[in-house]
This record gives sequence, C-alpha cells and structure tokens, in this order.
Amino acid sequence: MNDCPRCGYNLTGLPEVYRCPECGIDYDPDTEVFTLQVGRPEYRNLRYGLILALLVCYMAIHAGLGPPYILLAPIGIGMLAEIYRLSRKCFESNFLILNQNGIRLDAPESGSRTFSWESVSKAKYGWLTGKFYVQGCDGTRLLACSHERLGSARLTRRCATAINRQISKRK
Ligand SMILES: [Zn+2]
Repeated sequence: MNDCPRCGYNLTGLPEVYRCPECGIDYDPDTEVFTLQVGRPEYRNLRYGLILALLVCYMAIHAGLGPPYILLAPIGIGMLAEIYRLSRKCFESNFLILNQNGIRLDAPESGSRTFSWESVSKAKYGWLTGKFYVQGCDGTRLLACSHERLGSARLTRRCATAINRQISKRK
C-alpha cells in the first residue's frame, strides 16, 4: 500500500501491516476505506445556509461596505465559517474501514464500533427497502440502518459488496 486509504499519507517504507502514523488507522494490503456522506436533510439545510450566507456577504459588498451594512460582513463571514466547520464534520468524519481488525464504523454521533471478521457472516443491502445490515454468525443483525445514514444508495451497495468480498477473502 503506497498511501493511507483514509488520509492519503505516504506509507512508503513502512511495513505491509501497520498503523498509519498520520491518522492512526490500522491497515494491511487489503484495507478499504469508504467515506460516508451525511443524511440528506442536514445536507439540504447546509446548502440553504450557504446560499443565505453568500447573499449576506453580497449585500455587504454591494452596499459599498458603508454603515450600517458593514455590520453584515462579519455576520456573513461568521456564517460561512460555521457552514465550513459543519460541512467538514458531516463529510469527513464518517468512515467505514475494512481492515485486519474487521469492519469498523466511525461515526461522530454514535462513536466507533468494530466487528471482527469471525463474528460476521454477510452484509446485505435491499434496494427495495433501502435497508443495509451486517449479519452476525449467530444470525443477529449487528449493524442495521437505512442507506441515508451511509450516503447514497450506490455507495451503500458498494459498501455491502466490499464487505462480502472481504468476508470471503479473510475467513
Ligand atoms: Zn492515514
């Protein structure tokens, strides 16, 4: 592996099975990382917020930055900064990591959970129901959620396929 599949850090010269010195994930040659997208409602709000913030900035600039419109400029910039912070949180903090330890889901609101390869039997995505789940060897559902929580339907299907491919490879 040349670059860390999560953060892109150059891993040249490091062991095949190791830990990324930059972001700390364990990796081996088969490691796959999926960056998960935020649920649609939050994404939509973020987009409206961005339009509003740009409008406020535009008004401040258009008014020649004279009083009292000059007061709008810091508000608009503050809004943009907050949107940037939120979008980073939404788009960069959710990861599905398939590595030597198992299936790991990193989500800021529910914490990090890892399921070992020995404990899982298959992943399934029902395109009709929109439900994604990982089934344990004892038949229980270890992880179940709608595809909105992982991102798009396409991404969820890719995650399920990758998990099943890795299950057959690693068991
Ligand atoms: Zn890394």
